[in-house]
Amino acid sequence: MKILLVDDSRAVGAVLGARLVAIGHTVVFAENGLQAVEHFTAMPPDLVLMDIEMPVMDGFEAVRRIRDLERQGEWAWTPVIFLTASDTPENLITAIEAGADDFLAKALPEGVLEAKMKAMERMAHLRAELAEANHKLEVQARMDGLTGLYNRRYMDARLDRLWAEAVQRQASFGLLMIDVDHFKKYNDHYGHLAGDECLQTVARLLADVVAKANEVGLTSQAFVARYGGEEFAVLLPNCSERVQHKVAEAIVTATRGLGIPHEKSADWGVVTLSVGGARVERADGLLSPLFRRADLSLYRAKQNGRNRFEMAGPEAPQ
Ligand code: GH3
Ligand code: MG
Ligand code: MG
Ligand code: MG
Repeated sequence: MKILLVDDSRAVGAVLGARLVAIGHTVVFAENGLQAVEHFTAMPPDLVLMDIEMPVMDGFEAVRRIRDLERQGEWAWTPVIFLTASDTPENLITAIEAGADDFLAKALPEGVLEAKMKAMERMAHLRAELAEANHKLEVQARMDGLTGLYNRRYMDARLDRLWAEAVQRQASFGLLMIDVDHFKKYNDHYGHLAGDECLQTVARLLADVVAKANEVGLTSQAFVARYGGEEFAVLLPNCSERVQHKVAEAIVTATRGLGIPHEKSADWGVVTLSVGGARVERADGLLSPLFRRADLSLYRAKQNGRNRFEMAGPEAPQ
């Protein structure tokens, strides 16, 4: 484990430190509470062993600050054990109330410190496993199971934040709504499994187009999600109208270019899609009119023969 050992007494630090190193731990020293908090933020340890009485900042205050940092969410919960001169009940109660998890007498009999550290190490392992499992779940919860794109739920959450930022900065905001053409016929003719594969292929292409646009600096925060069924959405915060057109046209052209056979598609013989776009030059007010206008454009793209991009005119003054 990486242990942060905090004590103003060099002698105590040296003795305890040597015992900890001897059983395989890495020890970082701090001389007072303030140094401990600094170390904690710079390089979070697996365990903190903290003296109580120290100059500059005592152990109680240091633990309070560490717990505050953890509550802010950037640092994972870390066990803190107070080092006390004696293990009286009063010391135990004060230590726990100050936010520590346990306390240890500094003069520990042979074997006791080592045993305690073994227990702490088991906790550190569990904690790491739990953090990893949580992280995996979070990533999974954002993803659409079929296509691997972000799902609608995550898009909505991200959208709210991006829109609020755009409103604050009075930045532009573009939206593309994308719908696969004659996809019911595709399913009916080729089967649902082939339909699934087709959606996966189209999704990969959308992800590529958007990633490339971000990569070459045409946009920076463009974002694609599966909106539902055979519909996708591309968000283009802070992106020019020219780039929005470019991205939309690239999506239409490249999808047709995939050449996925679609015998039942009216004119083209391959899978195509329709894209409806809308944008505001200065984000303001509600987001829903933007979606309505993009939907109308998409409808127009379908009406005008599919396999195309249609853009909504400038927004009506509100
Ligand atoms: P249009 O060109 O007007 O968009 O016609 P369309 O047939 O694509 O539109 P419609 O809304 O009638 O049909 C959409 C089809 O998409 C129906 C549904 O079965 C299919 N679909 C939706 N989600 C999935 C999916 O996850 N997998 C498969 N294979 N098909 C899906
Ligand atoms: Mg002291
Ligand atoms: Mg549809
Ligand atoms: Mg469709």
